[in-house]
Amino acid sequence: MPGLMPGIHAFLVVSLRKQDVDGRDKPGHDEDGAYKMSNLDALIKDLVIANRILAKEDVVDAYGHVSVRHPDNPKHFFLSRSLAPELIEKEDIVELGLDGQPVNKDEKRSLYLERFIHAAILEANPDINAVVHAHAEDILPFGIASGTPLKPVIHSGSFIGPNVPVWDIADKFGDTNLLVTNMDHGRDLAKTMAGNPVALMRGHGFASAARSLIEVVRVSVYLPRNARALMRAKQLGGDIKYLRQGEIDARNRGYSPYSNETWRAWEYWANKAGCGHLLSRPDGGPVHVHDHKHDHKWERIANRE
Ligand SMILES: [Zn+2]
Repeated sequence: MPGLMPGIHAFLVVSLRKQDVDGRDKPGHDEDGAYKMSNLDALIKDLVIANRILAKEDVVDAYGHVSVRHPDNPKHFFLSRSLAPELIEKEDIVELGLDGQPVNKDEKRSLYLERFIHAAILEANPDINAVVHAHAEDILPFGIASGTPLKPVIHSGSFIGPNVPVWDIADKFGDTNLLVTNMDHGRDLAKTMAGNPVALMRGHGFASAARSLIEVVRVSVYLPRNARALMRAKQLGGDIKYLRQGEIDARNRGYSPYSNETWRAWEYWANKAGCGHLLSRPDGGPVHVHDHKHDHKWERIANRE
């Protein structure tokens, strides 16, 4: 299957034909006998990679999380147990329902208090398969000050959407601890988000959503960078030139979730985060696993000159 890329393992469907008890194929029953088998193991590995990338790129720290919808059961999704994203392993991933509760009722490990962010956004948006919540510092001023809206100003920020809504938990719930700790909170956030890729959460952080893990990671990595560029431009003074709507549209037209450029970023980020060994291509193609043992000969020669 050329063209399939990481973060979209959910869409790798293997068609298998059931065999009769004596091992012979049933002729003429290919359709009846065909069933889907998604590559769950690869998807869970991609979720671990996504956690590590977000940690390495300073989008999350001890707090923040990323989820992905179950490819075979859209009413379920995967999220880590309560743990810092940099430390997450495959075994830490928990399957949850769209009510934010674990599918396994015997699950005893503590879960993220704010898992309802993921449940509510996935519940409200059937086309969305991956969600991030984080407290990245650089975006926070834009949820607090009303004078300058957070909008795309750099080409890689175009995917945050032309207008980023700000959700204020106090508007509906008054004085809270600002955390999204139940489905009512989560649904109100999802309502403000209204299909946008990103919503800021006043005095707290942001939520982002996309069709696949790789896309939601990309949006979440470039969101704080866009915020930093905008903040520095404000310090320089004068009018701010946001990306024009036509430029945002052109960027979206030129983007393909299946392109080599998409794989290039995912592979780079995963290796940088030290988890290149978890990479796999759904098409079975080669991956670049970098062990960070650089040959510094050239640098040494350069330094002598
Ligand atoms: Zn939070």
